[in-house]
Amino acid sequence: MREEFETLIINSQELGGNSPSLGYIQELIDICAERKQKLLGGKLRITFPEYIKIDAPAKIWQDKMIEWARYDSASLIDRDTAMDVYDFLNLNRGSNFCSIESWRSHPNLKGMKVTKALKYVIDDPRSLDLVQQKASTFIQNGKTEGYLTFSVHPLDYLTISEPFHSCHSLNGDYRAGNISYMTDNSTIVCYLSSKEPTMTNYGTPWYAKTWRVLFHINEDGDFAVINRQYPFECPDLLAIVEEKAKELFKGLREDWCDDLIDKTKYFKTHESALLYNDLRRSPYYPHPIHTRMPLDKKPKPIVLGGPTPCLMCGDDIYREDSFFCDECIRNYELFNHDEYCLCSSCGDISSREDTSLVIDENGDAQDYCYNCTNNYTWICDCCNTMFSDEVTIYHDKDGINDYCRECWEDLCEDR
Ligand SMILES: [Zn+2]
Ligand SMILES: [Zn+2]
Ligand SMILES: [Zn+2]
Repeated sequence: MREEFETLIINSQELGGNSPSLGYIQELIDICAERKQKLLGGKLRITFPEYIKIDAPAKIWQDKMIEWARYDSASLIDRDTAMDVYDFLNLNRGSNFCSIESWRSHPNLKGMKVTKALKYVIDDPRSLDLVQQKASTFIQNGKTEGYLTFSVHPLDYLTISEPFHSCHSLNGDYRAGNISYMTDNSTIVCYLSSKEPTMTNYGTPWYAKTWRVLFHINEDGDFAVINRQYPFECPDLLAIVEEKAKELFKGLREDWCDDLIDKTKYFKTHESALLYNDLRRSPYYPHPIHTRMPLDKKPKPIVLGGPTPCLMCGDDIYREDSFFCDECIRNYELFNHDEYCLCSSCGDISSREDTSLVIDENGDAQDYCYNCTNNYTWICDCCNTMFSDEVTIYHDKDGINDYCRECWEDLCEDR
């Protein structure tokens, strides 16, 4: 498993052929195994035999269709037809097309399938055919199917947001959180995928997740919460996860209630975890949690995430967007050089936006971070060039202006 893990990291983080050794991976895998061993009865993955097939919520393909009608339909249908389709879809969007509103001279389309109802919107048979085809492509693409897996496998934590995108993707702003989830004793990855690994782009074939949630359970196994769903919400899938969870965890009792409980009290984030806690933070989902709580007792809180060690040296990681600690990032220059650089003054990694070019005593331009720019530079009042503090400042008679040597010499000649 270590080699597969390593290959996935090397390729996804674009470390290249002669990358430094990822010496901490085996230890991390061992920690993960130890912390999770109780969760799935010693197993790494449990895949249920039922093949699940779900129509993705109408909203997903509706939005695509609406966008298509508005912006991309010109090659297939004329403008007026496109606008009719757009208006019609928009009109029915609110009800998820459950009850279709009357459309112009056709008052009663209730209960009709959208693809069928389109014939009352589009007169021209050829255009109608093209639009209906387009709609069924979008619907087909929105279908979610596969086998449900509960997993505590390290590679599933790494790929919790692959191949779709979220901040926990391998290139995401919170990718370090994937390691934090590996080291807690509460988090299980639940997802839908095909039976065999189909994702091969990072060199290690693994399961492409068409839908996933994180399932968190407390130490006593009597209180659990299902986290936000990615990449879309689907109540049917959520219900299946809940049903399977009850089969797996007998301590989760039937007499639960659905009340929202005090988030800060029962879902704690580990102090060294670098994950994005949707349960507490997500601004877009006011009720992302699916809370189940025994009626008669107060459960032990669920602690999300654990320590977040660097995959190279095992020291703590401090930035959410990396699998490596600051020192390894510096030593091996493990950053995107288009976006970041090293500050020549303090050695910290500095984002290009916050970096200034500063002329040093040898006349060379150096990158300075925001902090060092503020503290260790000065600007020539004549040519506006920024110099490092080591460069001599020349003053005119009044001592009001700062000059670089060149500007000062020009000034002297002019006099
Ligand atoms: Zn390190
Ligand atoms: Zn600096
Ligand atoms: Zn100057």
